[in-house]
Order: sequence, then C-alpha cells, then structure tokens
Amino acid sequence: MAACLKSWGEPAFRVSQVLGWLYGHWVADWDAMTNLPQPLREKLQAEFSLQAPELARKQGSRDRTQKFLWRLNDRSLIESVLIPASPALYGEASDRHTLCVSTQVGCAYGCKFCASGLAGWKRNLRADEIVGQVIAVERWHQGEMRRVKAEGRAEENSHLALPTSRLINNLVIMGMGEPLANYDHLVKALRILNAPWGGGIGARKITVSTSGLAPQIRRLADEPLPVRLAVSLHGATDETRNRIMPVNRKHPLRELIAACEYYRRKKGRMITVEYVLIAGVNDGRDAAKALAALARRLRAKVNLIPCNKVEGLPWEHPDEKIQEQFLAALERQKVVATLRREKGHDIDAACGQLRLKTERELGGNPC
Ligand code: SF4
Repeated sequence: MAACLKSWGEPAFRVSQVLGWLYGHWVADWDAMTNLPQPLREKLQAEFSLQAPELARKQGSRDRTQKFLWRLNDRSLIESVLIPASPALYGEASDRHTLCVSTQVGCAYGCKFCASGLAGWKRNLRADEIVGQVIAVERWHQGEMRRVKAEGRAEENSHLALPTSRLINNLVIMGMGEPLANYDHLVKALRILNAPWGGGIGARKITVSTSGLAPQIRRLADEPLPVRLAVSLHGATDETRNRIMPVNRKHPLRELIAACEYYRRKKGRMITVEYVLIAGVNDGRDAAKALAALARRLRAKVNLIPCNKVEGLPWEHPDEKIQEQFLAALERQKVVATLRREKGHDIDAACGQLRLKTERELGGNPC
C-alpha cells in the first residue's frame, strides 16, 4: 500500500489515513474515507477491493455466542464463532470477546469426531480471507450498534455497547481447518492482525491450535510472534490418538511432545492441551493418568471439552459425573485443568457443523 501510494506521488501520511479507515473504522467503501481527495479515492477504488466475506447465515445462542457462516468469492462456505467474555477461555479475566476463525475450506485431517473433517478438504484460505473474518465481524458489530441505537434499545443490549471501536481482543485460530497446514497464509494473516496499524490484537491474545503437526510447531516456535499454542491432543496414548486422529500415524506422540517442549522452551509460554471427552473412548481412569503425565511433562494447562453431538457421527459426551471424575483425577495429579461447559450448545457449536447443515439443506456437495 505504501509503495503504491508513493508511486502515485501521494504524501507518506496517506498510508496511516487509509489504514486508520480500514482497521479503526472498518469501512467497506473507499468513498467513506472522507479525508482523502476524491481523485485518490477513485484510484484506490479501481485498484483495490475492500470486500470481506459475505454473511450467508448467522446463529446466535442463548449464551450470546454468535456463529457466522460466510460465503467466499468462489461460493465456498466457512465459519467463525464470536464468544463473549469468559475468564476460563485462553486468557485472563479481562477477556471481552474472542473470535474463533477458520483457515481452510474443509479439512484434510479427518479427526473422527469432527464435522469439518467429514466433508474433506477443498482449499486453503488466503491471508486476506483469514483477516477478512475479523473485519466482517467488526463490521457486523458496528451495524448492530447502529441498529440498537436507532431503535433506542441500548440498555437491554449493553453487552454490545463497548467503549472502543474494536470488538475483538482475543483470537483463536481453531475454526475449520488445520491452521498449521496453511502455514504461510496463516503467519501473514497473524502479522496483519497483530500489527498496531492493523488488527491491533496482542500476540499473547492470539492462540493457534493444531491437531499435532510437529514440524510446523517447531517452525512456529522460530517465528518472532509470541502467539500461544494449543494442542488438540484428545488422547494421551498413540493407541487412542491413532483411533480418533489419523494425523497421529504421521506424527506420533513422541514427535509431537518433543515439538511442544521445543515451543515452550523457545517462547517461554504455557501450552494449552485441548481434550475432547468422548464417552467410552478417552474418558477412563487410565486415560486421565496418561494425560496427567503428559500435561505435567509439558507444564501445560488442560481444557476438557465434553464432545458435541454431530449429526452423522456416533460419538457422545460422557455423563457429567464421569466428566467431573476425570477433572478431579487430573487435579489430584496437580494438573491445572478446566472443564468447559461448551458455549453455544444450541447453535451447532462444533466446528464445521453449521456449514455441513447448510450444504445439506442446499443439497450440494460440501466440497
Ligand atoms: S479437529 Fe481440526 S484438524 Fe481435526 S478434522 Fe477437525 S478441523 Fe481438521
């Protein structure tokens, strides 16, 4: 952008003017940049698109989790989920809004409990399509604020009334797709979202999740961005992981844990271990013991997530009593762990579910 404006003979300050409009006001139209001369706006209009993903469908749950289904230029569908403040979710008590974004259309990794993997992989998202999810949600929020104000309902919608122009201050890269399988676009998008001139989201407020791509974990550890790492473990033995996560056959636990240790050493950050509790698969006493040993070795925090029911898949979450017992077993082993009461139960919360449902309703092939 800077090089382009310079080549047009524009003064250097135009760059920050444009970026201020893009990432401070989230404008969707070059014409809205009223402090730019009209001929420049026309030139920019001809040269650059401000298009963000188009909203195809939205579901809002009773706990105010919002799920967005976006349609991309090639009509592919992807999801993002906006999750309101929760001290237990990837950050400190000051969390306000976390956005979970997708990095691929579909997913090639085929974890057995996951709706995104059910329909296979179509393509990687480009960096602008990853950043575009944040921009689109911020624009949606601005529209909501305007609507609420116009209808005079600001009080009952106080959760929308935020003091700044930015809604999202936490980002989790955990939506549809395996983020580290789309490494270059992911890192480019993270740089933009982290930059003070861009999304302005602190690197420590960004969590990248992976199903276990050990070589890319090491590569991410060598990047200067100090983002958090979450590993979707879901099984603490090769036997269990092989059963539910095909990625483990390529990068078995020994390799994965070594890569996580490397990440922790390089970044000096606590890793989060994600563990979906599936009845009869990974919820027994031995599983808790094996998980505790790995978590202690990694000095990781464990997030237990009762498995969501996905249409077409046989898995169920264990009874609440078993969930509590599993948590207690970890705590007895001095592991920091939380049992997440999944937000968004009533909105097909597991990643890929809304997309799958919509594709089925439209009668198309998800990929
Ligand atoms: S859990 Fe993640 S890596 Fe596994 S299939 Fe689903 S989207 Fe892909």
